[in-house]
Amino acid sequence: MRFYIPQLDVAGQMEESSAHPEHLGGLPFGLPADLWPTCAECGGTQSLIAQFLHDPLRLDLGRSGRMLFVFQCNHDPGMCATWEAFSGANSCLILEPEMQTGHLTEYPADSPPLDNAAFVRGWDERGLHLAVADELAFYTDEAFFQLSDEMLANVSWSTRLGGVPRWIQSAEESPRPGWRFVGQLDSLYSFRSAPSFSPDWISVDSEQFEGRTHIGEGPNFGGGIAYLFLRENEGNPAAAMFWQR
Ligand SMILES: [Zn+2]
Repeated sequence: MRFYIPQLDVAGQMEESSAHPEHLGGLPFGLPADLWPTCAECGGTQSLIAQFLHDPLRLDLGRSGRMLFVFQCNHDPGMCATWEAFSGANSCLILEPEMQTGHLTEYPADSPPLDNAAFVRGWDERGLHLAVADELAFYTDEAFFQLSDEMLANVSWSTRLGGVPRWIQSAEESPRPGWRFVGQLDSLYSFRSAPSFSPDWISVDSEQFEGRTHIGEGPNFGGGIAYLFLRENEGNPAAAMFWQR
Protein backbone atom coordinates (compact mmCIF):
# COMPACT_ATOMS: atom_id res chain seq x y z
CA MET A 1 0.00 0.00 0.00
CA ARG A 2 1.26 3.46 -0.91
CA PHE A 3 0.75 6.83 0.70
CA TYR A 4 1.84 10.31 -0.29
CA ILE A 5 3.21 13.09 1.90
CA PRO A 6 3.09 16.66 0.56
CA GLN A 7 6.29 18.67 0.26
CA LEU A 8 5.00 21.99 1.60
CA ASP A 9 6.37 25.45 0.96
CA VAL A 10 5.17 29.02 1.42
CA ALA A 11 5.40 32.06 -0.83
CA GLY A 12 5.89 35.64 0.33
CA GLN A 13 2.16 36.45 0.22
CA MET A 14 -0.90 34.40 1.17
CA GLU A 15 -2.31 34.98 -2.35
CA GLU A 16 0.83 33.55 -3.98
CA SER A 17 0.68 30.39 -1.86
CA SER A 18 -3.03 30.08 -2.69
CA ALA A 19 -2.45 30.40 -6.44
CA HIS A 20 -1.37 26.75 -6.65
CA PRO A 21 -3.89 24.07 -7.64
CA GLU A 22 -2.80 22.04 -4.61
CA HIS A 23 -2.47 23.92 -1.33
CA LEU A 24 -3.52 24.09 2.31
CA GLY A 25 -5.43 27.06 3.78
CA GLY A 26 -5.61 30.50 2.18
CA LEU A 27 -8.03 31.27 -0.65
CA PRO A 28 -9.51 28.71 -3.05
CA PHE A 29 -7.97 28.58 -6.53
CA GLY A 30 -10.30 27.83 -9.43
CA LEU A 31 -13.54 27.79 -7.39
CA PRO A 32 -16.40 29.89 -8.87
CA ALA A 33 -17.42 32.41 -6.20
CA ASP A 34 -21.05 31.24 -6.18
CA LEU A 35 -19.93 27.73 -5.18
CA TRP A 36 -18.11 28.91 -2.03
CA PRO A 37 -19.95 26.89 0.66
CA THR A 38 -21.79 28.43 3.61
CA CYS A 39 -22.26 26.92 7.07
CA ALA A 40 -25.62 25.22 7.67
CA GLU A 41 -25.48 26.24 11.33
CA CYS A 42 -24.41 29.91 11.38
CA GLY A 43 -24.90 30.83 7.73
CA GLY A 44 -21.38 32.26 7.33
CA THR A 45 -19.05 31.36 4.48
CA GLN A 46 -16.70 28.50 5.32
CA SER A 47 -12.87 28.58 5.23
CA LEU A 48 -10.71 26.54 2.88
CA ILE A 49 -8.76 23.74 4.57
CA ALA A 50 -7.15 22.15 1.51
CA GLN A 51 -7.50 21.55 -2.21
CA PHE A 52 -6.01 18.64 -4.15
CA LEU A 53 -6.06 17.51 -7.78
CA HIS A 54 -7.08 14.12 -9.11
CA ASP A 55 -4.23 11.68 -9.46
CA PRO A 56 -4.83 8.03 -10.38
CA LEU A 57 -2.52 6.82 -7.59
CA ARG A 58 -2.58 9.55 -4.95
CA LEU A 59 -6.20 10.67 -5.03
CA ASP A 60 -8.47 8.91 -7.51
CA LEU A 61 -11.34 11.32 -8.22
CA GLY A 62 -12.29 9.35 -11.34
CA ARG A 63 -11.27 11.90 -13.97
CA SER A 64 -8.23 13.96 -14.91
CA GLY A 65 -8.43 17.62 -13.83
CA ARG A 66 -11.01 17.12 -11.08
CA MET A 67 -10.28 19.08 -7.91
CA LEU A 68 -11.24 18.28 -4.33
CA PHE A 69 -11.92 21.28 -2.06
CA VAL A 70 -12.27 20.82 1.72
CA PHE A 71 -13.85 23.57 3.84
CA GLN A 72 -15.07 24.09 7.39
CA CYS A 73 -16.73 26.92 9.29
CA ASN A 74 -14.24 29.10 11.16
CA HIS A 75 -16.45 31.99 12.28
CA ASP A 76 -16.92 31.00 15.91
CA PRO A 77 -14.56 28.05 16.54
CA GLY A 78 -16.12 25.31 18.61
CA MET A 79 -19.71 26.51 18.07
CA CYS A 80 -20.59 24.92 14.72
CA ALA A 81 -20.20 21.11 14.44
CA THR A 82 -17.22 21.22 12.05
CA TRP A 83 -16.02 17.87 13.46
CA GLU A 84 -19.04 15.95 12.14
CA ALA A 85 -19.38 14.59 8.62
CA PHE A 86 -22.63 15.79 7.00
CA SER A 87 -23.32 18.40 9.74
CA GLY A 88 -23.26 21.15 7.11
CA ALA A 89 -20.56 22.99 9.10
CA ASN A 90 -17.92 21.50 6.80
CA SER A 91 -17.97 20.78 3.07
CA CYS A 92 -16.16 18.72 0.48
CA LEU A 93 -16.62 19.66 -3.17
CA ILE A 94 -15.29 17.86 -6.23
CA LEU A 95 -15.18 20.18 -9.20
CA GLU A 96 -14.95 19.22 -12.88
CA PRO A 97 -12.09 20.91 -14.80
CA GLU A 98 -14.66 22.69 -17.02
CA MET A 99 -16.11 24.38 -13.92
CA GLN A 100 -12.79 25.72 -12.63
CA THR A 101 -11.99 29.39 -13.19
CA GLY A 102 -8.16 29.26 -13.31
CA HIS A 103 -7.82 32.11 -10.81
CA LEU A 104 -8.12 32.88 -7.11
CA THR A 105 -11.64 33.14 -5.75
CA GLU A 106 -12.65 36.56 -4.44
CA TYR A 107 -12.65 36.85 -0.64
CA PRO A 108 -16.28 36.77 0.63
CA ALA A 109 -17.85 39.90 2.13
CA ASP A 110 -18.46 38.27 5.54
CA SER A 111 -14.67 37.77 5.99
CA PRO A 112 -14.30 34.10 6.96
CA PRO A 113 -11.08 33.72 9.03
CA LEU A 114 -8.55 32.18 6.62
CA ASP A 115 -6.12 29.45 7.62
CA ASN A 116 -2.42 29.96 6.93
CA ALA A 117 -1.57 29.16 3.31
CA ALA A 118 1.08 26.64 2.25
CA PHE A 119 1.39 25.16 -1.23
CA VAL A 120 2.30 21.64 -2.33
CA ARG A 121 5.63 21.69 -4.20
CA GLY A 122 5.60 17.93 -4.79
CA TRP A 123 4.76 14.64 -3.16
CA ASP A 124 6.91 12.00 -1.43
CA GLU A 125 5.71 8.47 -2.11
CA ARG A 126 6.03 6.00 0.75
CA GLY A 127 5.28 2.31 1.16
CA LEU A 128 3.32 0.72 3.99
CA HIS A 129 3.42 -3.05 4.36
CA LEU A 130 0.05 -4.20 5.63
CA ALA A 131 -1.72 -7.51 5.12
CA VAL A 132 -5.32 -7.16 3.88
CA ALA A 133 -6.67 -8.32 7.25
CA ASP A 134 -4.60 -5.68 9.03
CA GLU A 135 -5.80 -3.01 6.63
CA LEU A 136 -9.43 -3.92 7.40
CA ALA A 137 -8.66 -3.76 11.11
CA PHE A 138 -8.43 0.03 10.81
CA TYR A 139 -12.20 0.27 10.39
CA THR A 140 -13.56 -1.50 13.50
CA ASP A 141 -12.60 -0.69 17.07
CA GLU A 142 -12.41 -4.32 18.15
CA ALA A 143 -9.82 -5.22 15.51
CA PHE A 144 -8.07 -1.84 15.61
CA PHE A 145 -7.30 -2.01 19.32
CA GLN A 146 -5.60 -5.38 18.80
CA LEU A 147 -3.07 -4.00 16.33
CA SER A 148 0.46 -4.02 17.69
CA ASP A 149 2.39 -0.87 18.52
CA GLU A 150 5.04 -1.98 16.02
CA MET A 151 2.47 -2.00 13.24
CA LEU A 152 0.97 1.35 14.26
CA ALA A 153 4.43 2.92 14.43
CA ASN A 154 4.56 2.86 10.61
CA VAL A 155 1.24 4.70 10.20
CA SER A 156 1.98 8.43 9.94
CA TRP A 157 0.11 11.04 11.98
CA SER A 158 0.86 13.70 9.39
CA THR A 159 -1.11 15.19 6.52
CA ARG A 160 -1.10 12.77 3.61
CA LEU A 161 -3.10 11.11 0.85
CA GLY A 162 -3.59 7.35 0.86
CA GLY A 163 -2.67 4.72 3.42
CA VAL A 164 -4.86 3.97 6.42
CA PRO A 165 -6.27 6.44 8.97
CA ARG A 166 -4.26 7.21 12.09
CA TRP A 167 -7.18 7.49 14.50
CA ILE A 168 -7.19 9.59 17.64
CA GLN A 169 -10.61 8.31 18.75
CA SER A 170 -12.93 5.57 17.48
CA ALA A 171 -12.17 3.73 14.24
CA GLU A 172 -15.92 3.34 13.78
CA GLU A 173 -16.61 6.99 13.06
CA SER A 174 -15.85 6.47 9.39
CA PRO A 175 -18.94 6.83 7.17
CA ARG A 176 -20.27 3.56 5.75
CA PRO A 177 -21.08 1.61 3.72
CA GLY A 178 -19.35 2.37 0.45
CA TRP A 179 -16.92 5.02 1.69
CA ARG A 180 -13.17 4.59 1.43
CA PHE A 181 -10.42 6.45 3.27
CA VAL A 182 -8.39 8.71 0.94
CA GLY A 183 -6.32 10.85 3.29
CA GLN A 184 -5.98 12.86 6.45
CA LEU A 185 -5.17 16.46 7.39
CA ASP A 186 -3.23 17.36 10.51
CA SER A 187 -3.88 20.57 12.45
CA LEU A 188 -0.17 21.32 12.09
CA TYR A 189 1.54 21.77 8.74
CA SER A 190 4.68 19.60 8.50
CA PHE A 191 7.49 20.98 6.34
CA ARG A 192 10.02 18.40 5.15
CA SER A 193 12.62 21.13 4.54
CA ALA A 194 12.97 24.81 5.42
CA PRO A 195 10.24 26.86 3.70
CA SER A 196 11.24 29.60 1.23
CA PHE A 197 9.74 32.21 3.57
CA SER A 198 9.38 32.07 7.35
CA PRO A 199 6.26 33.90 8.52
CA ASP A 200 5.67 34.06 12.28
CA TRP A 201 3.29 31.06 12.20
CA ILE A 202 6.12 28.72 11.20
CA SER A 203 8.74 27.46 13.65
CA VAL A 204 11.57 24.92 13.72
CA ASP A 205 10.56 21.48 15.00
CA SER A 206 13.43 20.65 17.34
CA GLU A 207 12.07 17.09 17.72
CA GLN A 208 11.99 16.54 13.93
CA PHE A 209 8.84 14.46 14.40
CA GLU A 210 8.37 12.05 11.47
CA GLY A 211 11.30 13.72 9.70
CA ARG A 212 9.91 17.23 9.45
CA THR A 213 12.12 20.27 9.92
CA HIS A 214 9.48 22.98 10.50
CA ILE A 215 5.89 23.16 11.69
CA GLY A 216 3.19 25.69 10.92
CA GLU A 217 -0.17 26.43 12.51
CA GLY A 218 -2.87 24.83 10.41
CA PRO A 219 -6.64 24.42 10.64
CA ASN A 220 -8.66 24.31 13.84
CA PHE A 221 -9.31 20.63 14.50
CA GLY A 222 -8.91 21.17 18.26
CA GLY A 223 -5.33 20.01 17.85
CA GLY A 224 -6.57 16.83 16.14
CA ILE A 225 -6.75 15.28 12.68
CA ALA A 226 -9.37 15.44 9.93
CA TYR A 227 -10.12 12.31 7.88
CA LEU A 228 -11.17 12.35 4.22
CA PHE A 229 -13.41 9.69 2.71
CA LEU A 230 -14.67 9.17 -0.84
CA ARG A 231 -17.67 7.29 -2.19
CA GLU A 232 -18.13 6.28 -5.82
CA ASN A 233 -21.42 7.43 -7.25
CA GLU A 234 -21.89 6.34 -10.88
CA GLY A 235 -18.75 8.16 -12.01
CA ASN A 236 -19.36 11.21 -9.81
CA PRO A 237 -17.59 10.60 -6.52
CA ALA A 238 -18.68 12.31 -3.30
CA ALA A 239 -16.28 13.26 -0.50
CA ALA A 240 -16.76 13.65 3.25
CA MET A 241 -14.66 15.04 6.09
CA PHE A 242 -14.79 14.79 9.88
CA TRP A 243 -12.22 15.27 12.59
CA GLN A 244 -11.19 13.83 15.94
CA ARG A 245 -9.16 15.31 18.78
ZN1 LIG B 1 -20.82 28.08 11.26
